Amino acid sequence: MLLRTALLFLSRNRTLRRWVETSALARRLTGRFIAGLHLEDAIAVCRRLNGVGLLVTLDCLGEEVTSVAEVEAASKAYHALLDSIERLGLRSTVSLKLSQFGLGFSERLCYDSVESVVRRAASVPTSVEVDMESLGYVDRTLALVVRMHEAHGNVRGVIQAYLKRSYDDLAMLCERGIPVRLCKGAYREPASVAYQTRAEIRGNFLRLARILLDRGVYPGFATHDEFLIRRIREYAREAGIPASRYEFQMLYGVRRDLERSFLEDGLRLRLYVPYGEAWYPYFMRRLAEHPANLLLLLKNLFRR
Ligand SMILES: Cc1cc2nc3c(=O)[nH]c(=O)nc-3n(C[C@H](O)[C@H](O)[C@H](O)COP(=O)(O)OP(=O)(O)OC[C@H]3O[C@@H](n4cnc5c(N)ncnc54)[C@H](O)[C@@H]3O)c2cc1C
Repeated sequence: MLLRTALLFLSRNRTLRRWVETSALARRLTGRFIAGLHLEDAIAVCRRLNGVGLLVTLDCLGEEVTSVAEVEAASKAYHALLDSIERLGLRSTVSLKLSQFGLGFSERLCYDSVESVVRRAASVPTSVEVDMESLGYVDRTLALVVRMHEAHGNVRGVIQAYLKRSYDDLAMLCERGIPVRLCKGAYREPASVAYQTRAEIRGNFLRLARILLDRGVYPGFATHDEFLIRRIREYAREAGIPASRYEFQMLYGVRRDLERSFLEDGLRLRLYVPYGEAWYPYFMRRLAEHPANLLLLLKNLFRR
């Protein structure tokens, strides 16, 4: 727990981030979780995954930006990404973070920039998955998802099972027919608002997953937790819900060992494939989730 807290704290450290993101050695070590620094790297990975039957969601990394120029750059990057998805006929959605589109300093700018991405995605056609960030962003993120859904339809919201408020948020999204990605939640939130133990988080995840299977629109279950995956599959089977009505989602590089069995069992699996230069906070959250990754990283560092 202490290590997780420390890693999440470091994930927000700007000085360390600047130093690490420009280090060639660090970049080599991140290859397991990040497709590469450039759009072409992500496209190559996406084509390979599509080729074996996996669906993809592409994420051009970035978050917590502080200037209009950075928002414009993010918007441009997503338009280029959508151009490639259309041109190559890739089976991929896109995932983005609102703090990458300036939510932290201008709601108006964020809304307009994201809307242009959502509109372009609709013409591909594909959809935009709006990642959920830390608690301070939740209300504004859900509000934007609702507005985008009303205006364009092709968005998916994210619900974090560790938040105690998530039952109400999920009910609201289901009522409006908005597709949901359900995940555990990757940030550090206090016990007053978030479940802290694995058992509580799993319990809430399953409760919400059942609601999504009963009355959600094409839900995505984003987890590598085999206990949850098994229980969700059992529930769907018992309720007679076909595998085409939902999908599982995993992060690129995390459980390569499981991917093949999903396909063999006729299940839909979408991999979240991040790319780009701003990889540091994403990478640190992956270390925090699974501190054993830190050992692997250190082993690689001292090899040879
Ligand atoms: C597709 C996708 C999208 C997501 N989007 C969001 C989002 O928008 N907002 C948000 O807050 N969170 C998001 N997350 C992260 C999520 O909230 C969790 O932090 C993360 O998935 C770990 O939880 P878990 O359900 O996999 O269970 P865990 O209990 O953490 O992991 C289960 C098992 O999976 C393996 N595993 C898990 N993580 C790792 C790792 N990093 N490295 C190696 N092995 C690992 C281990 O074997 C572990 O025992 C997303 C996750 C996925 C898969």
